[in-house]
Amino acid sequence: MGIKLSTEGRSWDELKTAMMHLRRDDVDWRHGRHGAYVWYVSEDLERVAREAYGMFMAENGLGPRAFPSLRQMEEEVVGITLSLLQGEDGAGQMTSGGTESVFLAAKAARDWARAQRPEITNPEVVAPFSAHPAINKAAHYLGLRVIRVPTGPDFRADVQAMSRAITPNTIMLYGSAPAYSLGVIDPIAEIGELAEKRGHWFHVDACVGGILGPFVRRLGYPVPIFDFSLPGVSSISADHHKSGYTAKGASTVLFRNSDLQKYSRYEFDDWPTGLYSNLTFTGTRPGGAIAAAWAVMNFLGEKGYLKIAETVMRARQRFEEGLTKISGFHVWGHPDLWAIAFGAEGYDILEVWKTMVARGWFLSPVRRPPGIHLMVTAVHELAIDECIAELKDAVARVREGQVTGSTAEARY
Ligand SMILES: *Cc1c(COP(=O)(O)O)cnc(C)c1O
Repeated sequence: MGIKLSTEGRSWDELKTAMMHLRRDDVDWRHGRHGAYVWYVSEDLERVAREAYGMFMAENGLGPRAFPSLRQMEEEVVGITLSLLQGEDGAGQMTSGGTESVFLAAKAARDWARAQRPEITNPEVVAPFSAHPAINKAAHYLGLRVIRVPTGPDFRADVQAMSRAITPNTIMLYGSAPAYSLGVIDPIAEIGELAEKRGHWFHVDACVGGILGPFVRRLGYPVPIFDFSLPGVSSISADHHKSGYTAKGASTVLFRNSDLQKYSRYEFDDWPTGLYSNLTFTGTRPGGAIAAAWAVMNFLGEKGYLKIAETVMRARQRFEEGLTKISGFHVWGHPDLWAIAFGAEGYDILEVWKTMVARGWFLSPVRRPPGIHLMVTAVHELAIDECIAELKDAVARVREGQVTGSTAEARY
């Protein structure tokens, strides 16, 4: 590539200016021009996360004995998250994100099944079509096979069909709360009953809804239960860097009890240092991510999260109201929280999406069914009206058959 390290180094002032310049084409998430990737409330909260992260930037979560501070903060973050998800007897650990949380749940399920049912040599996971690719990624590394089952007409997991997909090799069932693309919560209680009846591990992927979902329910919205109060639930993943509104690199994987958690542990001792034993996939862990998650949770408290939940659900409603005024648009399914996707009749929704991206609105495409996805966050409340106006205009242009000139790829 011809890129080399500078000989003398460069001053921080110069670098900072260069980085500000590098940012010039990034999506403007501070003003809600995004449909995914960033969860933003306010400068106040951002400062808390940034400063807490900075304070513990050098510390390493791999060494809880060297850093009792991090150990305590992690314990408290896990404890609070367990209490939000009715996991009084549960156990859990912080991870780098949803992918790692799902990986550790799948690893635990695999090793648990190896202990319980050693006769299974080709373990399978039964998941709805709407499940996040993280489970396939985990399965790829862990030697599991994922059977994806078509969702029902409401885009939720079809429990009957999942039941039929169970084979003697099945070790784990999977459901989402909510699924990423269309934002619908799978029938977790029913999948839980099936898992219990058949003796399978059941993972609830609440990466999106795990932290704020319980607060939306407390506001009176009909959010179905997806937590450990359902006896069939073995593990739950909940991302703090999504609806927990903290800095990136923070998620939790929670287990019904410490007996199940122990299967997520990795141990090795045949090397000079001796026993290497931990509960994460990563080795070195950023202390900053743990500290920021702790600080953000404690800064917000119940009232702070309730306020975010209120804002987000209000923004979603305003967005939907705006959408209904644009002819042809409709929301797919009945999303339960703040993740929604909409499709269109009479014109190509993905052309509308390209037009929006070309104008700096970084919304995400959905392919099956075709639509545009938006993860409504607190900052979107301020952007909704403008977004609707732009969508209206984009639709008019697409209907006129204008070329967008966008080179955007339909890629998540
Ligand atoms: C984001 C997401 C994941 C993966 O989380 P990362 O933090 O991106 O690793 C898994 N499942 C669902 C439902 C998600 O939305």
